[in-house]
Amino acid sequence: MAVNPELLEEIKEKLKEVKEKGFQKKILITDLTPRDGQQCKLATRVRTDDLLPLCEALDKCGFYAVEVWGGATYDVSLRYLKEDPWERLKRIKEVMPNTKLQMLFRGQNIVGYKPRSDYTVKKFVEKAIEHGITVFRVFDSLNDNRNIETAVKAIKEFGGEVHAEISYTRSPIHTYELWMKYAQELAEMEPDWISFKDATGIMQPFECYQIIKGIKEVTGGKIPVLLHNHDMSGMATMNHIMAVLAGVDMLDTVLSPLAFGSSHPATETIIAALEGTPFDTGLDLQKVSEAAEIAKKIKKKYKKYETEYAGVNAKVLIHKIPGGMISNMVAQLMEANALDKLEEALEEVPRVEKDLGYPPLLTPSSQIVGVQAVLNVITGERYKVITKEVREYVEGKYGRPPGPISKELVEKILGPGKEPDFSKRAADYADPHEWEKAKKELQEFLGREPTDEEVLLYILFPMQAKEFFELREKGELHPEPVDAELPEVAETKPGEVPGAAPVEFEITYHGEKFKVKIEGVSLESEAGKPRKYYVRINNRLEEIQLKPFKEAIPKGGGVEAVESAEEEGIPKATEPGDVTPPMPGKVVKILVKEGEPVQQGQTVATVEAMKMENEVHAPIDGIVQKIFAKPGDQVNPDQAIMRIVPHKEDKSYQ
Ligand code: MN
Repeated sequence: MAVNPELLEEIKEKLKEVKEKGFQKKILITDLTPRDGQQCKLATRVRTDDLLPLCEALDKCGFYAVEVWGGATYDVSLRYLKEDPWERLKRIKEVMPNTKLQMLFRGQNIVGYKPRSDYTVKKFVEKAIEHGITVFRVFDSLNDNRNIETAVKAIKEFGGEVHAEISYTRSPIHTYELWMKYAQELAEMEPDWISFKDATGIMQPFECYQIIKGIKEVTGGKIPVLLHNHDMSGMATMNHIMAVLAGVDMLDTVLSPLAFGSSHPATETIIAALEGTPFDTGLDLQKVSEAAEIAKKIKKKYKKYETEYAGVNAKVLIHKIPGGMISNMVAQLMEANALDKLEEALEEVPRVEKDLGYPPLLTPSSQIVGVQAVLNVITGERYKVITKEVREYVEGKYGRPPGPISKELVEKILGPGKEPDFSKRAADYADPHEWEKAKKELQEFLGREPTDEEVLLYILFPMQAKEFFELREKGELHPEPVDAELPEVAETKPGEVPGAAPVEFEITYHGEKFKVKIEGVSLESEAGKPRKYYVRINNRLEEIQLKPFKEAIPKGGGVEAVESAEEEGIPKATEPGDVTPPMPGKVVKILVKEGEPVQQGQTVATVEAMKMENEVHAPIDGIVQKIFAKPGDQVNPDQAIMRIVPHKEDKSYQ
């Protein structure tokens, strides 16, 4: 964005005013550590038991609000921590009686990845307020503000506080004028606050000044404005100061151990920077640093979730991809044994972004773009496999993209000569009866009337919720292991078994000693393919990829074989008619039956990978001879979900 030439003059005037008029303006601070902070730095894996002492300490600091819920916390609690997110919220509320609790709310997508009915949105808001949420940060990842209307109304109706968000991105169509248009649209909804959010962390300081000042102006100064600025390129702290000069009323920060980089400027840094100035936050650095000590311990315990993409990475200025999205793409490529294609996939992201009309890269559009980019690269042909989400996006089911969609992609999905239709809201495509349907299904599954909270878990994450309820019933809710609970490898004494490979040893390399212990090995284990090993080197746990060429064979009860994850009953694909998923994932639906005739290209199953549903197509015309996988099974690209045989080979057809 071009800088207004009068800008420096203006800032000078502002500083003069501050000096001459004895100007005082307390800048408010919202701390995001328990939600955004740990989501950026520790993959949202911090368990409630570890969060509670932190929340208790944050409650004593006097922040405007503390963000504790929403975003990925709901999903990850259920998926990996095996915790009930509603229960988590209740427990946090108990230890935070003095502070407003804040959640991140993805508009019509709530805390999930696709639009829900208005009824579901209202119900969620009602229940969230009941469990202790006051502040709702509401956004739509396309900035299609029709998608936040229902949530905004419901939050007001049930007595919550609306912080309506504009999501920043940089693209040829995202101009100063467009930001002002969005601000005016939001102002018309009469939110309590307007939040300007840069989730990628690429906004420049002078640009930030102009936008914040502009928003204050076009909204007549009637609505307070806050800045939420990730620090991926290292510019966020500068932006905070510029925003203060431009008239911002509140800043979002994270305690120093989990601050900066993919996260936010540190709470302590901003308090100290403004201390003694007309913009003093009035917060006590001593109290805040006590909370920071707890955050430090949390960071240590969850070290294994820190990625190299969590620090400041100036490359983001070129590819504009948020850190969380890169880690997702890395995870996906690693599972597909295609990590060498990372650069290619990152280069594909801006092309997919352009094709889709420049959506800001926030959930769910970041996942929609990221998964499609990975698919375009690993299948070796752009849009050879199109995810269900990209299809629905082009059909208008997520709302109106900021810019036009590539004509080629539109025609590929909707047919030749067709134009996309964005006249409807995303919610208009959601099933208006989803609540009753889910309630009925859940009643059958649980054998009793489900609670509203259970229905919400089930609507948002059906597969994960069912798995969760089953484990809860059996008393087997165990979180994903952190550190010490890693799987153990077989133990032998040195020399006990001739030829056995050691798993705990010391090596001296170029005069330096390293103590090495193999703590565990990932379950996917297949001859010649890389596996993940968890290795402790000088007491520091590392995750490494190891590609074995030759292995010691266990004999006589000494060395035990590492368990193989070869899924029972799901064979390797060997025939031309074997149906394989484009990437590793969980089977969501099988859409055909054994004995059913299918046509080449027909969607026969869907597989969830990277939280997106991918369609799986029949490779040939024929008859479904045998289905090997069922919903919930994990499948890899070399495994056959089902086998299709050409018509002449199928006896039942003759
Ligand atoms: Mn954020």
